[in-house]
Amino acid sequence: MASEIVDLRSDTVTKPTPGMRRAMAEAEVGDDVFGDDPTVNRLQAVLAERLGFEAGLFMPSGTQSNLTALMTHCQRGDEVIVGQQAHTFRYEGGGAAVLGSIQPQPVENAPDGSLPLEKIAAAIKPDDPHFARTRLLALENTIGGKALAPAYCAQATRLAHARGLATHLDGARLFNAAAALGADARELVRGFDSVSVCLSKGLGAPVGSVLLGRREFIAAARRPRKMLGGGLRQAGVLAAAGLYALEHHVARLAEDHENAARLAAGLRAIDGLQVEHATNMVFVEVPPQRFDALPPFLRERGIVVLAHNPLRLVTHLDVDRAGIERAVAAFAAYFRR
Ligand SMILES: *Cc1c(COP(=O)(O)O)cnc(C)c1O
Repeated sequence: MASEIVDLRSDTVTKPTPGMRRAMAEAEVGDDVFGDDPTVNRLQAVLAERLGFEAGLFMPSGTQSNLTALMTHCQRGDEVIVGQQAHTFRYEGGGAAVLGSIQPQPVENAPDGSLPLEKIAAAIKPDDPHFARTRLLALENTIGGKALAPAYCAQATRLAHARGLATHLDGARLFNAAAALGADARELVRGFDSVSVCLSKGLGAPVGSVLLGRREFIAAARRPRKMLGGGLRQAGVLAAAGLYALEHHVARLAEDHENAARLAAGLRAIDGLQVEHATNMVFVEVPPQRFDALPPFLRERGIVVLAHNPLRLVTHLDVDRAGIERAVAAFAAYFRR
């Protein structure tokens, strides 16, 4: 669906399709705080079944889903080992510390996005009153667009469990990782005690994330979710969008990855740009003296980017191949001047 505007700021900018809006309008609903909403219940059950978990919990956002998971795994004074680049550490307002009294122990991510096993092991504290209680390892897949391999996730979660830690995966873009690796998403989450999946990124739903885990874990997660303001009432209208997305928008993620690859190839042909591509993201380092005038130049041609160097360009449901060609042409026109 090409619109006039090619919005490459994020995969969160997608608008619900006509089919998705129909599914939302027709959703059966009930009060989800009472567990009465049949559409929310179906979404939770469908995703749990698909990823091999016992239960799921629908939330308005990925930030809330991650924080709810952290607050369920950890008590006040516990510690989470997390990537320096992880969304839960960098981009969620410090919620684990601010609202959960959970101490983050950041570990430098390797260039492939993983946390090296020896660094995880070294960050685990002994049982000693000097230290916070290391309780949880949190990973992210994809991270910066890069997919973590199932073999790495298996090793990292095995290490964590052997040292008595629980494991959480921020799988905001889990299905992008699965598409990139040609793997079943279920394989990528094996070994994690909990996983959070976003419906509002590449899957194209307007809102929503689902937290997955064992039955008792999800039962316990209902309290922090309520505390954080995530107890919704007739949320089936939102869950219906998520169910529609799972049915219609997972297989097509490969198209976003192809479009990102095409965008990267087109930009690599332009002198002076440093271009990297992973899944649905393209990172472009622009010579600093050429950067400031670039975003407004693109905007005049209907191409929208965040004014941050390196640029992060993200493909999604509302960007088609023609849009990619327009974007490449606009960049080329700018750098010809
Ligand atoms: C977007 C995102 C989140 C948070 O999702 P929101 O719904 O925007 O709160 C969490 N983790 C990652 C990796 C994300 O990209």
